Formats: sequence, C-alpha cells, structure tokens
Amino acid sequence: MKEAVAGELAAAYHSRLVDEVRAAGFRHEKGRLTLHLATEFGFCYGVDRAVDYAYQAVARFPGRSVFLTGEIIHNPHVNERLRANGIRFLSDPDERARQLGPEDVVILPAFGVTVSEMKRFSDLGCTLVDTTCGSVLTVWKNVVRYAQDGFTAVIHGKVKHEETRATASQALKYPNGRYLVVVDREEAAAVCDYIRNGGDRQIFLARFAQAASPGFDPDLDLQRIGCANQTTMLMSESLEIGDMFRDAFRERYGEAALLHHFRAFDTICSATQERQDAVISLLDSQSVDLMIVVGGYNSSNTCNLAKICASRVRTFHIAVPNCLLSGDRIRHRPVGPPSTAAPSEVVTEDWLPPSGRIIVGLTAGASTPNNIVGQVIETLERFTSA
Ligand code: SF4
Repeated sequence: MKEAVAGELAAAYHSRLVDEVRAAGFRHEKGRLTLHLATEFGFCYGVDRAVDYAYQAVARFPGRSVFLTGEIIHNPHVNERLRANGIRFLSDPDERARQLGPEDVVILPAFGVTVSEMKRFSDLGCTLVDTTCGSVLTVWKNVVRYAQDGFTAVIHGKVKHEETRATASQALKYPNGRYLVVVDREEAAAVCDYIRNGGDRQIFLARFAQAASPGFDPDLDLQRIGCANQTTMLMSESLEIGDMFRDAFRERYGEAALLHHFRAFDTICSATQERQDAVISLLDSQSVDLMIVVGGYNSSNTCNLAKICASRVRTFHIAVPNCLLSGDRIRHRPVGPPSTAAPSEVVTEDWLPPSGRIIVGLTAGASTPNNIVGQVIETLERFTSA
C-alpha cells in the first residue's frame, strides 16, 4: 500500500527547486537574492510517516468514512490536502456530535491522543490507524515508568498542546501517578523554589491549577520527580530546566540522596534537535539580512525555530507562501507567544530592501512540506528579480 500512495505523496509535497538548492549546498542565487537554506528543515520522520499512513488509510479502506481526531500535524496546507483527499476531521463543529462505530476508521495524529480518547475509540470498535511518532512513545514510556516508581512526571511543555496532554495522561495509568507541566524557566524556577523552601500550598495550586494532575499536593508530590519534555520544545531550555531541578533536589536532600528524588531523561526528539542545531549553524556561518521561518502558527517546533532566529536577526514567521504579499508587505506571526496562544498575524511594510543585494536565511518547521518551501523560494525570487 505504501507504494500505491508514493506517487500521490510525491506529487503533493515534493519540490524540484528545493532538491536543486539542497544539491547546490543549501545556497541559491538568483538576481539580487542570495538564499541560505538550513541544512535540516521541513518534514521530520514522524510527520512523514503520519502523512503517509493517512494517505494509505484512504486507499486501504475504500467506501468507509476515514476520520482524523483533529489536525494530523500543525500545518494548514497538509490538513487541507487531507480534507481534499476525503478525510474528515472530528474536531470540526459539524462532526463533533457524530456517533462513531465499527465501520469507521480513525487516524490518530503524530503527537498522539490521551489515554481516555484512545480507550473511547477502542470501545466504540473503530478501526484505528495510529500514527503516534516513535519519539513521542519514548517519552510516554518514561512517564509511565516514573508513575510506576512513584515519581511525579514534570513535563516541560505547553499544557494545551495535544502532545503534552497525551503525555500527561500517561502518568495517570497508575493510581499514584502524578504530573505537573511547566512551560518555561520562570515556572520551573517557581517549582524549584517550592522544592527547596516549601511555600504557600494554595498559591502554588492556584498558579498550576490547569497544569497539575487532579489532587496534586506540592508538599507530597514534589518529593520525587522525573523530568520529561514535549518533544518540540527549545532543547536549550529543556536542558536548563532539567539542571534547575537537579540543583534544587541536590540542595534540598544532598548529593547522596539525589537518585532517590530526581530522574531525568532527554526526550527532545532528534528531528527537533537537528532543526534547531541547523538554524543556529546557519546563523553562525552566514551573515543574513533576515530569516524566514515557514510553518503553522500553532506548530510548537516552528515557533521555537522562529524564537532562535529572532534572538539573532530580523525574523518573519509565515504560515504559507502567500503570506509574502509583495516586495513591500509581508503577513506574519509575531515571534514570542507560545504556539498554543490564539493565532495572530500582523502585516509589516518595507520588509525587503527595494534595491541592492539581499541575503535571506530560510528554514521550515517539522510539519512543513517541501512544496511549500519551494513556493516560498519562488516567491522570493519574483520579489527580488527587479
Ligand atoms: S517533531 Fe519529533 S516527535 Fe514530533 S513527529 Fe516529528 S520526529 Fe516525531
């Protein structure tokens, strides 16, 4: 079945121009444009597989309704193509009340679903096509082990992100399982402070009301923790947060007792890490006038790539090629708010210099296909050809 859909996938997502840029050492020159493409960008192995499975599901179950629980990955173009291919979205308002049954096929997204959602679909007898990425499953395995051994899973992630919700639910497979989600260093520092010094339980619970497992008691549940991550977070931040917790436990209980109270496991996926490393290396080696980061506004790994770039150079995060409105105007998402924040766009004027050489750096999130990257390059060529 893989072979049967291979042609369809290539036609939908391949770009000859991107292949050419890659073959030319990730550098492209045309007119007054010099473009540097990150050496790792776009579709990761997990997304590649998820999209492949979705196309295979349509081919394998002709005549049956095929549903996605929601977005398969956070890319508007890919999700629209799947809709055009006949896949329906259970997250759509007119599908939400739908009664599913054994005749229905349900595709589970790359970032997984919660334990209770999985049980619901299984109980209904649906045929499940599980595209949960292996890297996400590795995180789940660790979180389950923490719960088994009486450690609270402290997850560096966004509490509203599907992957983090799914990962947190794994902690509750055991009766004493607990979780706490921290989104950044600031929240981690507040938790570390409680570990070191204790504090006001009610204030703590109010702050983490949406981010802690039911019945969470910081006085009991912060005595032993294991760190985990949403796989698409900023790697540097995740590592720093792990170190912050290690230091807090070391101070509270002493070095000899550290292993009894603290565990860590690097659960940033290699694809996320490679894309972050590649963009840092591009910025270290090339002097670019601006960076363009392409990917869904709700894509966590894309937002983090944009954050890395924006700390170094003028950066525009765009969702699709037609965000490049003209050589004067660009529509983009301001860099900074988390991917789970309400999507917002602004239009910036005079984003490209009207004359002279222009050096642009380009990267794309793990859910952005090559045809979109190729269209961005073509549009840049057009705007700089005069
Ligand atoms: S970003 Fe990483 S964890 Fe997520 S689907 Fe891709 S490879 Fe898997």
